[in-house]
Amino acid sequence: MMGKVYRGDQIQDLAVTKTTGNIIVLPKNHYLVKCAELPLSSIVAQTKSACIQCKMCTDMCPRYLIGHKIRPSMVMRNMFREKDMVDNEEYEAVFGEAANCCDCGVCEMFACPMGLSPRKVNSFIKGQLGRRGIKPNRNKNPKALEDLIYRRIPTERLVSRLDLMKYYHAHANECITIEPDCVSILIKQHIGVPGTVCVAVGDRVQKGDLIVQAKEGALSVPVHASIKGCVKLIDGERIVIDKEKE
Ligand code: SF4
Ligand code: SF4
Repeated sequence: MMGKVYRGDQIQDLAVTKTTGNIIVLPKNHYLVKCAELPLSSIVAQTKSACIQCKMCTDMCPRYLIGHKIRPSMVMRNMFREKDMVDNEEYEAVFGEAANCCDCGVCEMFACPMGLSPRKVNSFIKGQLGRRGIKPNRNKNPKALEDLIYRRIPTERLVSRLDLMKYYHAHANECITIEPDCVSILIKQHIGVPGTVCVAVGDRVQKGDLIVQAKEGALSVPVHASIKGCVKLIDGERIVIDKEKE
């Protein structure tokens, strides 16, 4: 629900990183792929014409339920005048709550009966807030709503809504060990700042050796060699290691 869709050539450049939760391979015409590919212009046009203000997106929003100031239905309601709003104070008052959205996708994938995408609209608004230099205040001590417990979403219904039921109980029966001759390891694989590369081209490394040192005093993590071999290339983004022949 929070993931990104990659296809074709994009997949060649991807790597598993410390923030990779899971990978789902879907047919090109799957519901989730189609949702992800809907252009923003269509999303905004649909919002203006089809939101019935039922408020389901707000009532089921996990951030709203745990007490943050966020009402996606209000953002959706006001989208018709977003483009023409010049006053930043007014913009913050009307759209500032979008900054509290955590992109969970409950609103678009489960709550909205009209198939609209408050999540993507919020994401667009967050970009606009940044462009306008608006930093809405955050409630650092949210208090959960008392009826939160009654608004939980049954997992199976959610999986069904996502059209993933046929994969739900599928499990890998076999694990295959892959032993590549060369690995390309990203220097930054996490949120925060990248660490400092602590190897040079030509260095020999053991599996598990430190190759990127975390930055002191910052949100940063170390990176280690995944194979025994020789460092072949280091660029701004990755370290390439050739496997040492036994
Ligand atoms: S995506 Fe944002 S607005 Fe939608 S339910 Fe999640 S937190 Fe709420
Ligand atoms: S759930 Fe959908 S239709 Fe209802 S208020 Fe939210 S965006 Fe509008």
